[in-house]
Amino acid sequence: MVICRNCGEEVHEDRALPVIPDEFGNMTYRCEDCLEPLSQEKLERMRKEGFKEEVEAIKKGLCPFCKKPVKESDFKGYRSRLDFRVNGSCKACQDDFYRGLFNQET
Ligand SMILES: [Zn+2]
Ligand SMILES: [Zn+2]
Repeated sequence: MVICRNCGEEVHEDRALPVIPDEFGNMTYRCEDCLEPLSQEKLERMRKEGFKEEVEAIKKGLCPFCKKPVKESDFKGYRSRLDFRVNGSCKACQDDFYRGLFNQET
């Protein structure tokens, strides 16, 4: 079990996404309820924040990082699907990200 950094609830690791480590270098998590899935509003906000290219990719059904086609049915695990819903990343980019984050093979 992990603690959601946002609401403080204890959640199963599979139902939460690791986010950047806190100031002490400890991994922090956000529960499913505290994650914001991609929506028109979120995309619009991202575009205003300067992620224009990423937003265009997501709208075309491409991974915002490697620009390869990605769709929800590519994901088998609950967590990877959740990750996709939140940021649109493909499985390969998710794996890369977590490998870097935990500094280990996933
Ligand atoms: Zn939460
Ligand atoms: Zn990708």
